[in-house]
Amino acid sequence: MTLKKLSNYYLIKPMSRTVLLNPGPVNITDKVRQAMTLPDLCHREKEFSNLMAAIRAKLLQAFNIEETFTSVLVSGSGTAALEMAVSSSLTPKRSMLVIENGVYGERIGKLCDVYNFHRHTIKLDWGVPPNLDDIESILKKQSDIEIVSMVHHETTTGLLNPLQSIGELAKKYGKIFLVDCISSLAGDEVDFTSIDLAVGTANKCLQGVPGVSFVLFRKKDLGRLIKIPARSLYFNLTEYHKAQEIGKLLFTPAIPAHYALDVALDELIEETVAGRIYRYANCAKFLRDGFKKLNLEYLIPEGWRSNCLTGLKLPKGVSYEKLHGKLKANGFVIYAGQGNLSENIFRIANMGDIKKEEFDRFIKILGTIC
Ligand SMILES: *Cc1c(COP(=O)(O)O)cnc(C)c1O
Repeated sequence: MTLKKLSNYYLIKPMSRTVLLNPGPVNITDKVRQAMTLPDLCHREKEFSNLMAAIRAKLLQAFNIEETFTSVLVSGSGTAALEMAVSSSLTPKRSMLVIENGVYGERIGKLCDVYNFHRHTIKLDWGVPPNLDDIESILKKQSDIEIVSMVHHETTTGLLNPLQSIGELAKKYGKIFLVDCISSLAGDEVDFTSIDLAVGTANKCLQGVPGVSFVLFRKKDLGRLIKIPARSLYFNLTEYHKAQEIGKLLFTPAIPAHYALDVALDELIEETVAGRIYRYANCAKFLRDGFKKLNLEYLIPEGWRSNCLTGLKLPKGVSYEKLHGKLKANGFVIYAGQGNLSENIFRIANMGDIKKEEFDRFIKILGTIC
């Protein structure tokens, strides 16, 4: 391919807008987009230190946890921050309880295995919520468990795991509670009361762009975390924290993604987290009313669904490829199922800066296909 052809290859019609109904990266506002064209910057200069300090503070401010939590930024996708939190938080010789009911819970399990952690696993079929009695009986029996880890919004299916009640159990047995909140922060209510480490990313409900993710952890846990020997060079939580506290960095960050996140956080603080959750809940309700009229079948029963994503069974005789292709031709990108679900379901996320009229148009076009 010539260079010209290559550059045409990824150019989606220059002026057209694609509505992203995938669970991140999301559609961003023009203000966030413009932030990425701010001046070239060296990350060792005080301008970047200030930017980083502002983002770290705004994250805590947005979720109203300034008193008790601190934040650490890491360049990379959400999994970078997840790896940082998991690999840096387990005391040697202790073990982790992992609750798996989707790809992302299984990812926490895989991380434990990569780092040779001893783990106990509650393994469930995808989309099946964990049973609290099972969790309690493991916690009662296995005193080696130091950390209870789980995914809040399991994006695989759209299931919202019961964060509050599992968190209360973790606290009852004196455990550290580590939560992947990557696809729920700012989209579903996250109760920080029992959380010790929360993982998030810029490019989902925070409405920034991919490239930077973060760990929020309880300040009073720092003493314990610092004593844990380094297991990774790039993903060492307390080393990043130490550097970021004095405005320094260990490695070159994704600077444009930081510019964007800073503005995205201003917008979040203005909208408020409660306001955004309310907006997303309304979008989900609008979509679900539409899905119901189209007789589409849900993967997750009512009451267990997140505000941010709906898993739906593919209508009879419609393949995912066909559905995806027709919708894309009309400016909408939807998301396939993962693993065993890839043949049977599709997923519609409602994260990001999407207008009511766009959801309306989407339902109408979906109706013409189904
Ligand atoms: C998106 C997501 C991640 C991280 O995925 P990346 O591709 O690394 O950003 C992790 N956990 C959950 C629940 C997610 O939705």
